[in-house]
Amino acid sequence: MKIDRIEHIGIAVKSIDQALAFYEGVLGLQCYKQEIVEEQHVKTAFLQLGNVKIELLESTWDQGPVAQFIAKRGEGIHHIAYRVESTQEALQEALDKGLPLIDQTERDGADNMKIGFVHPKGSFGVLTEFCSEKVERT
Ligand code: ZN
Repeated sequence: MKIDRIEHIGIAVKSIDQALAFYEGVLGLQCYKQEIVEEQHVKTAFLQLGNVKIELLESTWDQGPVAQFIAKRGEGIHHIAYRVESTQEALQEALDKGLPLIDQTERDGADNMKIGFVHPKGSFGVLTEFCSEKVERT
């Protein structure tokens, strides 16, 4: 697998507005985009820091995956996303090496990325995301 760098760190919060008071107001980062990902029942906010992003995740549904995460573990780091050349190939390699996957095939994520998750029980408790830029295939 060819990992380029950490692309972003996902952080589960109860309220993006309240979290931005810290990330913008205290750390001085800038939120450049907010986006709702309907299938994941989540609202996201992105802040850039060098070539790494912080992705804030707020649930839009009290039964959604981020709401369940917060109910179980509280607010905090939710996942780490590695930037790869091809999300699909990275998922396939993880599968070939016996890792449990959440996503068998890549899917559309926020911020114009193709994403896929490895289950945290295969990656020492850290929900692991692969992501690659969406390529328009014509
Ligand atoms: Zn992510």
